[in-house]
Amino acid sequence: MTNIKNYLESLDLKEEYRHRGDCPKCKGKNTFTAIRDGSALLYNCYKLDCNTKGVVSSGMTAREIQRKLKGYEEPESEHETFTWPEYVVTPTVFTRVVGKPSGVVMIVEDVISATVAAKLFPGLTGLAILGTSFSVSNMKHLDNFYKVIVALDPDAAYKTLEYKREIEAYTGLETIALRLYDDIKYKVEADIKKLEEIL
Ligand SMILES: [Zn+2]
Repeated sequence: MTNIKNYLESLDLKEEYRHRGDCPKCKGKNTFTAIRDGSALLYNCYKLDCNTKGVVSSGMTAREIQRKLKGYEEPESEHETFTWPEYVVTPTVFTRVVGKPSGVVMIVEDVISATVAAKLFPGLTGLAILGTSFSVSNMKHLDNFYKVIVALDPDAAYKTLEYKREIEAYTGLETIALRLYDDIKYKVEADIKKLEEIL
């Protein structure tokens, strides 16, 4: 894993910038993505037979900062297992999950839509991103589901596709971008039918 860490650090990723390129392990063309989230570097190769996926710490970690403050150098163990520092776990985006954490999760813009979705279909969970963006730190909310539906407002079609791709790459879950005629909270019949077909 030290090699992948060196490779990731050589990319010199800036916050929120997503790298896309050839996989350093399987050499898959353009199948490798990496992103920085604070001091964490998350990486993933979505070629089916390649298991390259994980998180490494880089830059100033909580421990490094502490070490600096204490003013002495502590030898860094080479195969340190990475645990999320507290400040990375704290969601930068506030989300609200309505429903049970199993089955299918639908990512929507607001809480009313999340509630409507959860009420319409038992087994469907609504996850409201509350007008902000769905970043890597939100991926953990998707852990207990087997399928993800991204159904944002009709005017956010580009964002919907972008999230679908990102979620698929990071979680490996089946992810569907659902194009709505109107926000799900208005319960447009055609939208409900579309959802029924997916579920
Ligand atoms: Zn690969």
